[in-house]
Amino acid sequence: MTKLKLAIVGAGPAGIYAADILLKAERKFDVSIDLFEQLPAPYGLVRYGVAPDHPRIKGIINALRNVIDHGDMRLFGNVHFGTDITLEDLKRHYNAVIFATGAVRDSALDIPGIDAAHSFGAAEYVSWFDGHPDVSPEWTLDAESVGVIGNGNVALDVARMLAKHADDLLVTEIPDNVYQGLKASRITDVHVFGRRGPAQVKFTPLELRELGELRDVDMVVYDEDFQYDEASQQAVASNKQVMVMDRIMQSWRKLDSVNNAGGTASRRLHLHFWARPVEVKKDENGRVAALVYERTESDGAGGAVGTGELREVPMQGLYRAIGYFGSPLAGVPFDKKHGVIPNREGQVLETKSNQRVPGIYTTGWIKRGPVGLIGHTKSDAMETVQHLINDQGSWWHPEDPSDEAIPALLAERGVQWTDLDGWHRLDAHEIALGEAHESTRERVKLVPRDEMVRVSRGE
Ligand code: NAP
Repeated sequence: MTKLKLAIVGAGPAGIYAADILLKAERKFDVSIDLFEQLPAPYGLVRYGVAPDHPRIKGIINALRNVIDHGDMRLFGNVHFGTDITLEDLKRHYNAVIFATGAVRDSALDIPGIDAAHSFGAAEYVSWFDGHPDVSPEWTLDAESVGVIGNGNVALDVARMLAKHADDLLVTEIPDNVYQGLKASRITDVHVFGRRGPAQVKFTPLELRELGELRDVDMVVYDEDFQYDEASQQAVASNKQVMVMDRIMQSWRKLDSVNNAGGTASRRLHLHFWARPVEVKKDENGRVAALVYERTESDGAGGAVGTGELREVPMQGLYRAIGYFGSPLAGVPFDKKHGVIPNREGQVLETKSNQRVPGIYTTGWIKRGPVGLIGHTKSDAMETVQHLINDQGSWWHPEDPSDEAIPALLAERGVQWTDLDGWHRLDAHEIALGEAHESTRERVKLVPRDEMVRVSRGE
């Protein structure tokens, strides 16, 4: 029987779902899969993007674990595509490759002062609180007032992880350095800014409701933002999710803290709508001092137009959560404008000619952009895998498809790769750290890359 030797680059949900779908698909050939991951641990965004206090979503790891533990699959962790292994190598040893590298950078916000000290992208902060090995373990939380730009779920994660008291996170897997950093936080006010109105948010109801349940945090909303025009009324009436979220926010309007008066909590989380950021003001040391925004109003069709009125909120830190952006991969076509690999239903296309590039496929956020929940990645992978199966005639013909070739190549290059057994060792080590913790936690994540590699490799 013919064999498909497939490389998948990226061991996050997109790559693992693609592997699962291919292994279960009706097909006339055998499959063996090598999963390459630049981090020493698998699970990508679920491990390093989902907030630690969202165990339900983190639970997706159980399904992903089943796939990598039971499929005909090898894991090569701590292997960076483009340096440790190249596209030329993959062509020499595989029939095809699927790139599932996600989108982990922050989109840029082109306003004056955005380069101020203590102005961050959401991804940087998320990586820190999720214990990403490539981010400094130190994070200074000495600001009393901070801003978060954006009205999507990432903005909510960032705002919640800024406002929440550190001790309420002790039940989660946060690493000790994150607990210490949050414990030292001097925050009193988190201001979230949306450039459109409450009926145009991109949050989801569960995530929004959660804000109101935070201990010792008052929700602050402003009456002036809730004067709905016909478009907003229509948006609320026609969409169940928007209706639920409107109800949640309306319930906050009934609290004492509305318009920032009379709350009793030591921290406040403000939602500002119709607020388009226009400038970040700096202090004499170049640090964020205030966000200037233009008050907007509805354009009658779901969008917003400026009113010319400028307002200013003092703050000492700013986080922009306005969307993620994909990174280019060496030798692989890339659409610089949208931050994705150009493709037709997962079949990769040349940037200029739009011609198909045989043997190269893509799935997940690097295929369709950073939108949609993790579950959406499954249908995405199905589409890509179906093409891979149908395209058997245009697969690569590798010189050396043997199982020994890749370990030999990595060893020759001095790459300290980690494998599936190594991941099991690291996983067990983190679980043991959690058990040993005074408050007994499910796991405590190991952060430094060299330590992760050392434990994985049993050194
Ligand atoms: P998102 O949902 O696309 O939200 C981006 C937000 O940034 C929007 O409110 C957008 O406003 C705003 N924005 C964009 N450009 C802006 C600008 N120049 N100035 C001001 N605001 C700007 O993206 P995301 O929050 O990064 O989330 C990505 C995906 O991951 C989403 O599907 C999300 O649901 C998912 N996610 C889910 C969870 C969860 O389930 N708990 C957690 C995190 C992420 P406009 O709407 O006006 O464009």
